[in-house]
Amino acid sequence: MRIHTGLGFDSHRFVSGRPLVLGGVVIPHSEGLLGHSDADVLLHAVIDALFGAIGDGDIGRHFPDTAPAYEGVSSLLLLRKTMETVRSAGWSVCNVDATLLAEAPKLAPHMPAIRASVASALGIPEADVSVKAKTLEKMGSLGRREGIGALCSVLVLSNE
Ligand code: MG
Repeated sequence: MRIHTGLGFDSHRFVSGRPLVLGGVVIPHSEGLLGHSDADVLLHAVIDALFGAIGDGDIGRHFPDTAPAYEGVSSLLLLRKTMETVRSAGWSVCNVDATLLAEAPKLAPHMPAIRASVASALGIPEADVSVKAKTLEKMGSLGRREGIGALCSVLVLSNE
């Protein structure tokens, strides 16, 4: 049996006129995140952690932000495609632990929906998915509400 960990990080800038999508859930807010896809910063960190864990590059290599096919695409679709790659390489996901770095909006009320959405896209029980949120204590660019960041750690297993 092989056990691997993976680490993911992402950040996106706030802009007006776009929906804020975190973990596949639309969060009511005055601004959304700028990006080629739906700019779901949480799912991008999860995807990068998964590719890191299986040693297969990163989100940019698998889903280039220059590809018209991924313009405005739901990152839930990208995560499901990532899981197809993970499973076909013989790996299964033990758990995912993620942290959102956001001064605003308040995310606590949305955490149950975000957790359920991420677990569903991963195809694993909610009990194996953790999503947390922290403010930056008003420090730095994220603390000035310029955008949102996300960190993610995953553990994957292979029986090979
Ligand atoms: Mg991203």
